[in-house]
Amino acid sequence: MKKICILGATGSIGEQTLEVIRGQKDDFKLISFSSHKNYEKTIRIIKEFNPKYVAITDHDNFKKVIEYCKENSLEIELLEGVNGLTTISTLDEIEIVVTAVVGMIGLVPTLEAIKAGKDIALANKETLVTGGELVINAAEKYGIKILPVDSEHGAIFQCIQGNEMSNINKILLTASGGPFRGKNKSHLLQVTPKEAISHPKWNMGKKISVDSSTLVNKGLEVIEAHWLFNIEYKNIEVVIHPESIIHSMVEYKDGSVLAQLSNPDMKLPIQYALNYPKRGNLIINQLDLFKVSKLTFEKPDLKTFEGLKLAYDAGISGGIMPTVYNVANEVSVNLFLNNKIKYLEIVDIIKDCLSAFKNEPITSVETILEAETNVKKYIEAKRNLREV
Ligand code: NDP
Ligand code: MG
Repeated sequence: MKKICILGATGSIGEQTLEVIRGQKDDFKLISFSSHKNYEKTIRIIKEFNPKYVAITDHDNFKKVIEYCKENSLEIELLEGVNGLTTISTLDEIEIVVTAVVGMIGLVPTLEAIKAGKDIALANKETLVTGGELVINAAEKYGIKILPVDSEHGAIFQCIQGNEMSNINKILLTASGGPFRGKNKSHLLQVTPKEAISHPKWNMGKKISVDSSTLVNKGLEVIEAHWLFNIEYKNIEVVIHPESIIHSMVEYKDGSVLAQLSNPDMKLPIQYALNYPKRGNLIINQLDLFKVSKLTFEKPDLKTFEGLKLAYDAGISGGIMPTVYNVANEVSVNLFLNNKIKYLEIVDIIKDCLSAFKNEPITSVETILEAETNVKKYIEAKRNLREV
């Protein structure tokens, strides 16, 4: 029985992870999880899975949940605040941590879980984008596995099984193209948050949905792939594939291209990561190629979706630049979702931050957290100036 911690169990990936666990009750046991603001889901998960520990990062939610547990005499340890994320991911009995929180808040608990010897089923790509070097080095040092949950990286991971990494020519990272594929910048001037979060193929959390629409998500995934598979940026190519049936491909030096195909459903990469190296049973809709009938491919439009190009620049620069890219995006997506900035300003802010910040090498997690604070301050100061 594999003992599991989920960071961010109340979100989209968290919920689908619970579905996988539900389907393999004899194989998996949820020992601990975290939530932020979602009270109803927190209670529902406690009632169904009876975990030993729950970390709640939002103060009001924490107070409500503790009240509920008292009233119902539930024996459960509740922890408040971000430190709770580290506590529940490093518990002795945990074997694998599913990182399904959104944003770089996942970095510290993931690093600490690695140091405590836990395998990581990694959905939280912002962790690798900002702390890739530290995370990969720590994984090697502590001998743990990082099992990708992101569908593209899960696909690549499947395509490299049994092959030598030195035989890889390049990675073909597929992207649906998002809701605004084929549009140009003048079409995107008036995009609303509602339009940006309506993804044509995947039903995901709000932040990653906006990221998918700007192709910043693909940019983050390019950096994620660089760290996970130790591949140079020039050997990572993004391919727009609107049907979202091929989840990514690996080209080998003999010209063979291996792909992983399935209907788009995150339960599959989650299930593969949790069962690895075994495979689980069918829990998604089986692929019917006759129904799909054709698969198409396009080059990305880097002029309209400049965020993708900027991710390559930030990744190649290395040091704190991917952190600058990521923080600028996290902050601006949040501003956009709260109707504080326009859609195209998301990438304008990223571009501005990348040119405003001087690069420096990452020597510790503190370098990353300091860069995070500085980028946030920089954006706030600029916005205040504009509002005066
Ligand atoms: P959601 O927004 O659906 O869920 C986010 C989770 O994080 C929730 O449990 C939420 O708690 C919690 N959370 C939100 N803010 C904070 C905070 N400040 N501190 C601590 N916890 C917080 O996101 P997704 O599930 O869509 O995405 C999660 C991660 O997985 C992201 O990094 C994303 O890029 C990645 N990913 C997602 C995919 C998808 O299909 N959804 C696909 C591939 C990768 P609460 O709800 O209780 O407030
Ligand atoms: Mg993905």
